Amino acid sequence: MKTILVATGNPGKLVEISAMLDTPALWLTLRDFPGIQEVQEDGQTFEENARKKALGYAGQTGLWTLADDSGLVVDALKGEPGVHSARFCGHSTDTTDRKTIDRLNYEKVLDLLRNIPGSRRTGRFVCHLCLASPQKILLETHGQCEGLILDTPRGENGFGYDPIFFVPSLNRTIAELSTKEKNAVSHRGNAFIQFKPMLRKLLENSPD
Ligand code: IMP
Repeated sequence: MKTILVATGNPGKLVEISAMLDTPALWLTLRDFPGIQEVQEDGQTFEENARKKALGYAGQTGLWTLADDSGLVVDALKGEPGVHSARFCGHSTDTTDRKTIDRLNYEKVLDLLRNIPGSRRTGRFVCHLCLASPQKILLETHGQCEGLILDTPRGENGFGYDPIFFVPSLNRTIAELSTKEKNAVSHRGNAFIQFKPMLRKLLENSPD
């Protein structure tokens, strides 16, 4: 059986990804490699960052590596926070706990959108998935989830910007959904729906 590393240090993402990894492979996470050097996410696009993480961690471990780069794109903010979603508030997990960063990040978005009316508060979550071997990129998929940015947070589930992201077709924020419900509509869920059959085919044709 092939061993595949899921290259994310974000526990929120890991919960969701784990629920979708019903593919016959031995899945490891970055926690299995405590001394590993962090790959810097300094690309201009989600694609660039996902490729950089997948190739960077595959190169260090010798394993096929799956990386997710994702974030919130807000139209009225010219696409921000975008690739800066994780550190939009200026704090990092080196100094501040993740829950506080998540809150400061979405509060900054709410603050910047203070005078923007509901009809112009459109945005989307975007996710780019990349699977790489140490030598090359093997598979890539892209998912999106369209919604509106509320003016106050709602819900306790999920992570990141979920409490301010409203999905009109469900009449709920993403933070008001269970993991299963979120994966059925989210950017990450969308990217995985395309990714899984492609991965199965690749595994069938690859020696362990
Ligand atoms: P990455 O680790 O560079 O991909 O950063 C992703 C950041 O985007 C996270 O730290 C969150 O702030 C945000 N983000 C990505 N996916 C989600 C999601 O599913 N819900 C809420 N926020 C998300």
